[in-house]
Amino acid sequence: MSFQNPVFIPGPTNMPEFLRRACDMSTIDHRSPVFGNILNPCLSGVRKVLKSDSASIFIFPSSGTGGWETALSNTLSAGDGVLAARNGMFSHRWIDMCQRHGLNVTVVETPWGQGLPADRYEEILKADTNHDIKVVLATHNETATGVRSDIAAVRRALDAAGHPALLFVDGVSSIASMDFRMDEWGVDVAVTGSQKGFMLPAGLAIVGFSEKAMNAVETATLPRTYFDVRDMGKGYDANAFPYTPPVGLMNGLKLSLDVLLDEGLDNVFARHHRIAEGVRRAVDAWGLELCAVSPDLYSDTVTAVRTPEGFNATDIVTRAASEYDMAFGVGLGEVAGKVFRIGHLGSLTDAMMLSGLATAEMVMVDLGLDIKLGSGVAAAQEFYRHGSDKAAKAAA
Ligand SMILES: *Cc1c(COP(=O)(O)O)cnc(C)c1O
Repeated sequence: MSFQNPVFIPGPTNMPEFLRRACDMSTIDHRSPVFGNILNPCLSGVRKVLKSDSASIFIFPSSGTGGWETALSNTLSAGDGVLAARNGMFSHRWIDMCQRHGLNVTVVETPWGQGLPADRYEEILKADTNHDIKVVLATHNETATGVRSDIAAVRRALDAAGHPALLFVDGVSSIASMDFRMDEWGVDVAVTGSQKGFMLPAGLAIVGFSEKAMNAVETATLPRTYFDVRDMGKGYDANAFPYTPPVGLMNGLKLSLDVLLDEGLDNVFARHHRIAEGVRRAVDAWGLELCAVSPDLYSDTVTAVRTPEGFNATDIVTRAASEYDMAFGVGLGEVAGKVFRIGHLGSLTDAMMLSGLATAEMVMVDLGLDIKLGSGVAAAQEFYRHGSDKAAKAAA
């Protein structure tokens, strides 16, 4: 067991000291106006990060999974149709949740490593002339496989079919790390959590509802109490929660939003892209393949690396922890033992990433993989370094 940081799991992510401290505060009366000074900046900051002008933002004491439940239980009724693709463990779990809620899910089985099949969505939606499908689910970044899907393409599929279904997007491992455009993509519910891009402990489910989703709240009949957005909204009108809010976490979120918006979202995304690209160059130098099947799908927050046939990828994660005090992610579900995952989102620098790559190399060499020490690190260094020729090129 190790308490060493940085970790290279795809969430929870490394917490900067100032955010940890922001979460650690003395008790306030959460029904006093002081709470509004924490709540309201959180709501407006999240709206900016989602790139929405008008979304209703709700923050629940929960993890991202509670955000999924908030989306479903507030907008749907038993037997409603849902269209979803299963291309990894996280999309699988959201489908499972739909089924346990008595929803009628049309599942498009998609090979793990591929993106969401927008063309299949379009065909299915076109054939659904009765409009039995009420919601299309889309996992923006499938954390199990390191695949980022094209949400704009899913929106185009809905529009091309002229279908009125709502579009719900799981952005838990993308929002605040990779570009997300709630309004432009016509997303009706966006779901995220505190422990990934926001660099906080787990404990907040963060959701945005479009006006269309808020209208669906009025007619939906699935049971909901704790996650009822109407109760939460009424609480917000009085600068409060319908129950006790996680004040410290929200104080952390307020500061996290300030820091992200100060850095500038485009700079945050560029930093994630640069770090991720260095990781991909390292993987290439090792002679290994990614789980994601094509470059358009490469995630900038997590890289799932395939190991050779007959090798148990989980051994890499186990040994990195036991011998080098470093945490990587195991393969989940269908790709368990076939991939290991390098998380690279949240609070991370190039230099921190190099330490992760160097450690992964030592572990793989220890385990007998045919990899040369330093090869991946060198490839990443070459990409990360600020050499004089690079500076000259940038200036030109
Ligand atoms: C982490 C994650 C979740 C939510 O998990 P929680 O543990 O409930 O916070 C959902 N979807 C994706 C894509 C994730 O990466």
